[in-house]
Amino acid sequence: MAAKRIARLNERTADTAPPGSSATQMRTHMCGELREGDVGKRVRLCGWVATRREHGEHLAFVDLRDHSGVTQCVVGGSVEARSEWVLQVEGTVRRRPAGNENPELPTGDVELADCNVEVLARAEPPPFAVDDRVESDESVRLRYRYVDLRRPRMQGNLRLRSRVLTALREAMLRQGFCEVETPLLWTPTPEGAREFAVPARLHRGEFYVLPQSPQIAKQLLMVGGVDRYFQMARCLRDEDLRADRQFEFTQLDVEASFVSASDVREAVTEAVVEATEAAVGERPGEVKSISWQEAMDRYGVDKPDMRFEMELVDLGEVFAGTEVRAMAAQCVKGLRVPAGAQLSRNRVDALAERAKQLGAKGLASFKVAGTRSGGEPVLESALEKFLSATERAGLVSATGAVPGDLILVVADSWRTACEVLGQLRLELGRPPVGTGGRRLCWVTDFPLFEGLDDEGVPIAAHHPFTMPHREDLDLLDSDPLAVRSEAYDLVLNGWELGSGSIRIHREDIQRKVFDVLGISPEDAEARFGFLLGALRYGAPPHGGFAVGVDRLVALLAGEENIREVIAFPKTQSGTDPLTGAPKPLSAQSLRELGLRVEAR
Ligand code: ASP
Repeated sequence: MAAKRIARLNERTADTAPPGSSATQMRTHMCGELREGDVGKRVRLCGWVATRREHGEHLAFVDLRDHSGVTQCVVGGSVEARSEWVLQVEGTVRRRPAGNENPELPTGDVELADCNVEVLARAEPPPFAVDDRVESDESVRLRYRYVDLRRPRMQGNLRLRSRVLTALREAMLRQGFCEVETPLLWTPTPEGAREFAVPARLHRGEFYVLPQSPQIAKQLLMVGGVDRYFQMARCLRDEDLRADRQFEFTQLDVEASFVSASDVREAVTEAVVEATEAAVGERPGEVKSISWQEAMDRYGVDKPDMRFEMELVDLGEVFAGTEVRAMAAQCVKGLRVPAGAQLSRNRVDALAERAKQLGAKGLASFKVAGTRSGGEPVLESALEKFLSATERAGLVSATGAVPGDLILVVADSWRTACEVLGQLRLELGRPPVGTGGRRLCWVTDFPLFEGLDDEGVPIAAHHPFTMPHREDLDLLDSDPLAVRSEAYDLVLNGWELGSGSIRIHREDIQRKVFDVLGISPEDAEARFGFLLGALRYGAPPHGGFAVGVDRLVALLAGEENIREVIAFPKTQSGTDPLTGAPKPLSAQSLRELGLRVEAR
């Protein structure tokens, strides 16, 4: 938009007014804006020196850069202008001499001649080239982030992020949601992550906690009659960092009253589809919905990457009465690897090793070498001679394998068989980030608990405010791990974009779930008495969701690492090379806060 405004200014000034007459206007155009149609105009650009090439003794070509692109300026050889200096260049647009055009640049047909150059700021030689083609060490990039951000890739990412944020916000507003800000100085909540604590100067020995998410605050807003809330919320979690995790991240946080799970999913889908279109110019295809159980069965993972097929196949029937010990298990699952028969012996051995590493007792592999004249498949495998003819035929027909394929089989517990083959499926077939289109899907009906801790206490799969399935309420005591929940995740190309659920709005059910989670009534009262209290004052049925904006933007930008779409991220070890944070506090600050630091 800035470019347009400046272009309008240009119509008023550069065409009509002599140079220098509008002393207040620093530039008339952006560096990426000039085209053949501008030839003859006297214009003024501001930007950084991207390159300088000497052209004989008396002339130099300076490529001047701003976030919109570069323009070649022909300046007097005596003008001092080094890499990354900030210049204002006034010149006349002219066609480049025939043969000197640069088709790679949108401005490549023109250049600025008869230039007056003013140096606005000098610069030390940059620590690395401001060039997308040059890979620099990440800690150096972060140390000089203000230089790194000048690169077209980073500018593109920041601007794409801005478009995504705007589209998300507009979609929520259009659907009748109201943006409400919730506190950053908050109190501990049981959502599973370690929290950052902030000492309260005025209440010595007491602490605020930075919110892992506005979860409870938004539920209180529902009790408060807000009805449809959203927020671009910063969330803070003191967890180990990975490529797709930072201490602080942004969520599109959503909550709504008197809704079903599918109402919430529809509102969020709309926002994410709009954001995708705003970012990359096209809407994703149909957004599928799949239950957790089915996702595990078919993809072996709760965040299926649907850009490619290779679905897992249940082989329970094929091996129902098997004599082969390795195939006798609670669950037998197969994975067809198209054209996998060409994998080397070493590679197949490595897959077996990997399967063991992932927790399987073993991995059976069958190369489909061809078919005998009677139609019977020829399998190559150490187990081949132990299988009956029916098992051999069943294995091939159930997996749909054809000669040249490889079939991998895991016989184990249901969970292990699914998870191990699900991981091998990804390692063998997953398209690289940024390819294979965009496949969004909802995964629904997660189990309420994801397992038991060392003391046999169930662990909440989502967070403890998630509503159990109505039909499963009776199982809370007898078989908690079988209880399904009203929780759902949104998945894009195998990345979890966020989670949500219908919440518990009845105090009795909330207390019951705390009880199953091993949170005593006293503890529950001390930690979230305020929430339980609110549930006694007329809580509407409600549910919500949170979209991880950093991940969404990274995927839309084709970046593997969310640090590439965050202006000032922390390193993997949680430091900020630019500011030096975290740093010790002065003795005076510590005294004021009533804190003493123990020697390590
Ligand atoms: N607060 C949850 C989270 O941060 C999302 C939600 O349930 O709305 O994952």
